[in-house]
Amino acid sequence: MPVIYSQAYRGRIAPSPTGRLHVGHARTFWLAAARARRASGTLFLRNDDLDRDRCRPEFVAGFIEDLHWLGLTWTEPMITQSERLPFYRRALRRLHAAGLIYPCHRSRREVAAAASAPHEGEAADDEPIFPAEWRPPAGTPLPDLPPDDAPITVNWRFRVPDGRTLTFDDTLAGPQSAVAGRDFGDFLVWRRDDVPSYQLACAADDGDLAITEVVRGADLIRSTFRQLLVLEALQHPAPRYVHCPLMRDENGQRLAKRHDALSLQTLRENGADPAGLVASFAALQPAAP
Ligand code: GLU
Repeated sequence: MPVIYSQAYRGRIAPSPTGRLHVGHARTFWLAAARARRASGTLFLRNDDLDRDRCRPEFVAGFIEDLHWLGLTWTEPMITQSERLPFYRRALRRLHAAGLIYPCHRSRREVAAAASAPHEGEAADDEPIFPAEWRPPAGTPLPDLPPDDAPITVNWRFRVPDGRTLTFDDTLAGPQSAVAGRDFGDFLVWRRDDVPSYQLACAADDGDLAITEVVRGADLIRSTFRQLLVLEALQHPAPRYVHCPLMRDENGQRLAKRHDALSLQTLRENGADPAGLVASFAALQPAAP
């Protein structure tokens, strides 16, 4: 019996070209591809290359090589975020028109110093909570954004609705909730070096591409709440979310791109069998999309 889905499945895999992929990425991307295929859906490959300091073109070639080695396929041409800056700028303009953002002159270091240490279970690299008392006081007129052909030279932040509880039901990680202003604060949408933040670019892309399901690592659960606010502000429906548990090394450390021994490149060079690796992921099979 064929399964009839009420909405065509549209998924994406979104590597950042900041290093070689490791087995944790492989498992997440394999799951995303398997779910899209099972639903006879569309799968986008999105190159998350906005961070000019950390991204390198050879890692784009690297992740494509790694994904091919794993046997993963996508159905659409690759989308490269750095080629979509005017689109993100339009999204920023809509947030500005809705009065949801403000310019912020605090440095990253100041914000980090003011925030408390990360809570238990919170990724240490998650954006620190911006102190609410540093917001522009109520009634402060909102400065204009520079014209679209001029660079943005201050940080812009999204003003979160303090006290509002946001929830979503994660297909793998279960029910999730967070309180805006307590669990996460006003977050960056555009950086003073004229780059959109990951939160803005990701939510604007997921909305624009009408993504129905996001499969990614559990380190991004907190970001999901921020992205739900951006999606709502841009009047896009929320996709479903599947956050995969993080893989750890033998010392309990979260796998990171510095774990060269577990990079797909090293495994391939050592003669590993991609089919065996993929078979080891099959235990992570949540309910059908
Ligand atoms: N590029 C992000 C990362 O590698 C993933 C973004 C996403 O899937 O939303 O962590």
